[in-house]
Amino acid sequence: MIPGARIVILGRQGAGKGTQCVRLSRHYVVPHISTGDMLRGAVREGTDLGRTAKEIMDSGGLVGDEVMIGIVDERLQRADARTRGYILDGFPRTVVQANALDEVAGDKPLDIVIDLFVAREVVIRRISARRVCRDCGTNYTATGTERYPWICEVCGGDVMQRDDDTPEAVNRRLDLYEEQTAPLIDYYEGQGRLIVVDGVGDPEDPIVDRLGH
Ligand SMILES: [Zn+2]
Repeated sequence: MIPGARIVILGRQGAGKGTQCVRLSRHYVVPHISTGDMLRGAVREGTDLGRTAKEIMDSGGLVGDEVMIGIVDERLQRADARTRGYILDGFPRTVVQANALDEVAGDKPLDIVIDLFVAREVVIRRISARRVCRDCGTNYTATGTERYPWICEVCGGDVMQRDDDTPEAVNRRLDLYEEQTAPLIDYYEGQGRLIVVDGVGDPEDPIVDRLGH
């Protein structure tokens, strides 16, 4: 049995964090804890947290440190995360959250923090090429040779670009991410925990090598 691991993953939207988290979670047999998924789940279920989070997100804000720390603390106390470890995705986003995570982790500190690096131009190109079927949600990649109207091969629905996948919207999100994350990169570099992994090549091996198992 492979020992567990406690991992934080950072990376721009479109860097391929989802794929990477699935691989690592299988390799180390640890839960993939995505705060984005947790918040969306809470909103769907209409819990107290979900209602608070929805209000904040609808008004264009980010859920505050205190709420996020509470959610993550509670999740990390569960048996799977306590005994095996975890891959945290979407948290921490601020240095305040990173400090809180160190406190919550206590005598079981993070093993590594992965910065899945993909150049800004590359993620903009990837995200700008994304298309989705309005009816069934099938994903497509635009190559510029499509015929319009673009009809979904699965259900015959319209294939469109999401409103928030335009270059302007993507640039705004990337600016916000960089502004928030730059201090975190320094924080974890200072702790000697940061590894930068090339998100364009095959990022699996360097991570596993670094942990030594
Ligand atoms: Zn469809």
